[in-house]
Amino acid sequence: MFARPAAGLEGTERGTEAQALLRNCVHCGFCLPACPTYRVTGNELDSPRGRIYLIKQMVEGAEATETTRHHLDRCLTCRACERACPSGVEYGRLIDLGRELVEERAPRSLAQRALRRALTRTLSRASLLTAAVRMGQVVRAALPAALRVRIPPRPSRRPTVPATGHARRVVLLEGCVQPGLAPGINAAAVRVLDRLGIAVERIAGEQCCGALGHHLGDAGRALDQARRNVEACCAALDAGAEVIVSSTSACGLMVKDYGRLLASDPAYAARAQRVSAATRDLAEIVDARDLAGAGLLRGTGPGVAWQAPCTLQHGQRLGGRVEPLLEAAGYTLVATREATLCCGSAGTYSLLQPELSGELRRRKVAALVTGRPALVATANIGCLEHLRAASPVPVRHWIELVADALERVPRN
Ligand code: SF4
Ligand code: SF4
Repeated sequence: MFARPAAGLEGTERGTEAQALLRNCVHCGFCLPACPTYRVTGNELDSPRGRIYLIKQMVEGAEATETTRHHLDRCLTCRACERACPSGVEYGRLIDLGRELVEERAPRSLAQRALRRALTRTLSRASLLTAAVRMGQVVRAALPAALRVRIPPRPSRRPTVPATGHARRVVLLEGCVQPGLAPGINAAAVRVLDRLGIAVERIAGEQCCGALGHHLGDAGRALDQARRNVEACCAALDAGAEVIVSSTSACGLMVKDYGRLLASDPAYAARAQRVSAATRDLAEIVDARDLAGAGLLRGTGPGVAWQAPCTLQHGQRLGGRVEPLLEAAGYTLVATREATLCCGSAGTYSLLQPELSGELRRRKVAALVTGRPALVATANIGCLEHLRAASPVPVRHWIELVADALERVPRN
């Protein structure tokens, strides 16, 4: 049974929210088999129910310890548990609250804080990361194997981007790690949308969506980045853009959450709500009927194993949206196992929790290649790079596969 928030939290916005969220959990344990970390370690404290218990203890006033932080850190925030929970527990919100409390009450060592700060600052700067990747590609062959697998090979040709001019216009968020690691993805999105009669614009001054800071305990920086993106996106919407499109499911999920994250900021709440409501994943824009209309023939392409990122299927609840698009583009979907299991990428999780992340990747790759696909397709740059480093077959964004297929048929 949940008691009451302890002094200091009782009556506050955070305490009231925690109380409401915690009360929904009836400790039934139905979420345990869905949890990737519980499945690897078998430890109740690495399960959603165990973590909820740790958060409940903190909310009720118990001391936060290294152990509390250790088990909350090991959560992937994949939200598979939310989908398995019959009581509708909003675990994603609870883990955010739990992490805020543990950061305040059991501060990390100086070295840990410095590492997290460095990761947030470096990975959220597109120009810095792109330069580092370019440099890594030049010396890739000479790098130790462990580092080499993290650097994608240099693309054999520069991605082409058409100059599009259509009455329908959308904004494409470029993301911060994607342009450096896989510049072909956004270029492919532009080409596909152009074929569908949609012009693509970029917004000036796009920032990291804020997900990195949000998950690494730098909420202030994350909200600042969100505010700047809200301003830029509102300007684009005012100028006639239909929607904001994301080709990275993790970033799309974060932007769709701006309305909630900035709800208590009177200067931004309404605009953030507007931006969240206008944000779409690419899979919500591309229509299978349009692909069929472009002359693509079903069942003519190679076998593809589809990996639905957690941020797409559990976070944005868009499971089942990409598969018909791949089929309409001619690809044959190959049977896989463990469709709801996280691949272990989870933002910076693969860097901060390498053992668990590596084990989850091993399981996921085995589950994806079970039907002997020629390719693996995904919808998130983090999953793509993480899987690519261990997959025996190429891993690509689904929009690149659709773009390739469209290039093989003449324009109407
Ligand atoms: S989170 Fe949901 S499924 Fe898990 S123990 Fe609580 S009520 Fe049961
Ligand atoms: S978010 Fe994922 S890793 Fe975290 S408790 Fe839920 S199922 Fe487990």
